[in-house]
Order: sequence, then structure tokens, then C-alpha cells
Amino acid sequence: MQSTTLSAGDSIEARCTKCRKNNPHTIITMSETGPTKVQCSICSRQHKYRPPSPIKKPAASSRAAQIKEAERQEWATLHETMNRAKASAYYMTESYKIKTLINHPVFGLGLVQRVIGAQKMEVLFEDGKKTMRCK
Ligand SMILES: [Zn+2]
Repeated sequence: MQSTTLSAGDSIEARCTKCRKNNPHTIITMSETGPTKVQCSICSRQHKYRPPSPIKKPAASSRAAQIKEAERQEWATLHETMNRAKASAYYMTESYKIKTLINHPVFGLGLVQRVIGAQKMEVLFEDGKKTMRCK
């Protein structure tokens, strides 16, 4: 029977405050409850053991997240009015008018919101706004 108990010298995933990410660490000292001191294998810093942190989501307060949230709400509102049966298949060789509902093979239903100069349009998809090619 193999023991899963950790001991000094073992490698463990831990959070490094210097690298600001989860790195493999070598355990230097142990207590009954787990590692107490570890050494980062990336920057060689010795510090108190911190469990690996979950992957951080982008801060909700960031501007990009706010835009995304606004687009998501816009989508939620518009989505109720969308009639999938009336969506036109998306082809980059076609030209589209504003408010045309398109069906993209990857992004799904989208609403043409803006035609940007030559051969480009802005389409709101469930994932947010994307610039698509058009005729
Ligand atoms: Zn480090």
C-alpha cells in the first residue's frame, strides 16, 4: 500500500507570491496538517506554504468586463426578439444590412449592428460583439 503522505523534499503545487502564480514547490518543512515552508522551483524563493489559488477570472470591475457585461445584457434583450427561422446564413461574400439576423456556423445567431467601412460589419453574438467580413 502506497502512502500519500507528503514529506520534506517532496514536490507540491503551491502559490508563489513573487511569481504571482501557482508553481511547483519543494517542501522544506512539514507540520501535522501539511507543508509549512516551501521553496519555489521557479524563483527559488523560500516562503510559507500557500495552497494554489484558483485560476483568477478577469476582475469584474475591469473595463473589458464591463463592456462584455453590457453586450451580454444587450444580447439577452435582443435575443428574445430574434427569430431563428428568419436568420440568414452568414457568408463573407454577402452584403448585409443593419439589423439583419445572421446565423454563423461557429458563433450562432448574431445581429448586424453596424457596417464599418469596406467589407466589415459589427455583429452582436451571444459571446459579444465581433467584427465580421462581408461584401
Ligand atoms: Zn516563485
